[in-house]
Amino acid sequence: MKTADELTDLFRERGLRMTPQRQVIFRLLHDNDRHPTVESLYDAARTDMPTISLKTVYQTVHDLETMGEVELLDVGTGSIRVDPNVDRVHHHLVCRQCGTVRDVLLDIADLRVPARYRREFTVEAVEVVFRGVCDDCASAGPTAT
Ligand SMILES: [Zn+2]
Ligand SMILES: [Zn+2]
Repeated sequence: MKTADELTDLFRERGLRMTPQRQVIFRLLHDNDRHPTVESLYDAARTDMPTISLKTVYQTVHDLETMGEVELLDVGTGSIRVDPNVDRVHHHLVCRQCGTVRDVLLDIADLRVPARYRREFTVEAVEVVFRGVCDDCASAGPTAT
């Protein structure tokens, strides 16, 4: 993902309003590989900028998505995750207990839909999600329910 300064220029070029609130979000997302939810970005942004609203965070994230600077992922954790790592094609490891999402670089060039299914369907993208339990959750043992 681009730096906060680069994104600021990009927003201005497109005639989008640039505010200190938005810059806080850019900074929080830069080099962030934790796939934060919009709500957790909002929480983090509020420590820097107590006046920021959840609506501003949503709007900024959606503007970034429209510009192709972030991807919004639904990996089945119950909330949309913001993924600023759009420079490299990658896939995800998802912990079913804590919802941690980690990037995986792997080559799936050979993963193809068999020809008979392709007759009536054009594949545009492939996303691989590995589901399981992260080490932190595994060492904590099963959650009491
Ligand atoms: Zn976990
Ligand atoms: Zn990712």
